[in-house]
Amino acid sequence: MKEGIHPEYKKATITCACGNVVETRSTVQNIHVEICSQCHPFFTGKQKFVDSAGRVEKFKRKYGIKN
Ligand SMILES: [Zn+2]
Repeated sequence: MKEGIHPEYKKATITCACGNVVETRSTVQNIHVEICSQCHPFFTGKQKFVDSAGRVEKFKRKYGIKN
């Protein structure tokens, strides 16, 4: 076994724009991301909900459906 061939993996933190911090091991010690596994599904889910609600309203208006 020779030493110094493999990069040194240190304890690293991934900081997301949403405030979530994930601890991992990497050659890079501090990583900043705009989206992570914590906020991504929530964000897309919210977007889909808002969009579908708007479509239902348009559909109701188009065909004159009340409630
Ligand atoms: Zn996030």
